[in-house]
Amino acid sequence: MVDETTKNFPTNKEIPSLLRNRGIFPTRQRVRVAQEMLCRPQHVTADQLFMAVNAKHPAVARATVYNTLSIFVNAGLVSVLTMPDGGTVYYDSSVHHHAHIFDEESGELMDVDADVFSLAQHVALPDDAEVTGVDLVVRVRRKTTG
Ligand SMILES: [Zn+2]
Repeated sequence: MVDETTKNFPTNKEIPSLLRNRGIFPTRQRVRVAQEMLCRPQHVTADQLFMAVNAKHPAVARATVYNTLSIFVNAGLVSVLTMPDGGTVYYDSSVHHHAHIFDEESGELMDVDADVFSLAQHVALPDDAEVTGVDLVVRVRRKTTG
C-alpha cells in the first residue's frame, strides 16, 4: 500500500496559495471544491464530489464543481482514472505515478505503489513515441473456497 507519509496533501488553509501557485484564481467556490478534493487521498466521481461539497456548501452549483474539477485536472492537481468497462471516471487526489487495486465487490479503489513506468519498457512502442503515463488497475474479488 502507499506510504502516506511520503505524500503531501494540503491543509484547508494552504488551498488558496496552492491554487494561486498553479495559476488558478482562488474564488470562494473553487477553494471549497479544492478543500473537499485535494486535502486527503481519495478517488471520487464528479457526482460524489458534488454531493460532498453540496452537503457543506449548498450554494455551490453542480456545474461549478464539474468545471472546477477540469481546471484542477488541467493544472495537474488531480489525476483522472477511467475504468475500462462502464467508463466510470474517477478523480484521484494523488497525482504521483501509482497503480490501483479495484475491489469488484465493494467498488473500492485503492492506491498501490508500483513502478508502473517500468512495465512500459516491455511494450514495443513506435520509434518516435515516448511514454507519458501508464494506467494499471488490478481487479480483485474474494477467493471462493471449495
Ligand atoms: Zn489513486
